[in-house]
Amino acid sequence: MKPDRSDCIFCRIAAHEVPKTFRYEDDVLMVFDDIRPSAPVHLLIVPKRHIPSVVDFGTAERALAGELILAANLAAADAGIKDGYKLVFNAGRKGGQIIDHVHLHLLGGWSQDQE
Ligand code: AMP
Ligand code: ZN
Repeated sequence: MKPDRSDCIFCRIAAHEVPKTFRYEDDVLMVFDDIRPSAPVHLLIVPKRHIPSVVDFGTAERALAGELILAANLAAADAGIKDGYKLVFNAGRKGGQIIDHVHLHLLGGWSQDQE
């Protein structure tokens, strides 16, 4: 499979050009560990199609938006953190987005006494 964008790291991962251990993968999306985790469990839920940001989501992405959230819930259960987690889209540079290929952060695994 050719990547949508050869200059995009997540497109290259989706095309299996860059080796990556997937927690989950299907034709639409993939789930893998964030390379610089900000939480004990930090996974990324990433559509395979190149869409720069959640800012670009329109009615055509309505179903995809639902799939990303459902995949995140399943990934949370698989990772043993379904009792509590955060789902975060960083949107645009001012929103902290660095990789311009939309991805949903799943963060969790903190012990109960941590904030
Ligand atoms: P954002 O700031 O929302 O664009 O987040 C991008 C995230 O992607 C950061 O948390 C990075 O640590 C992560 N990241 C960047 N490159 C890779 C990679 N090759 N594999 C896994 N995670 C990555
Ligand atoms: Zn891409």
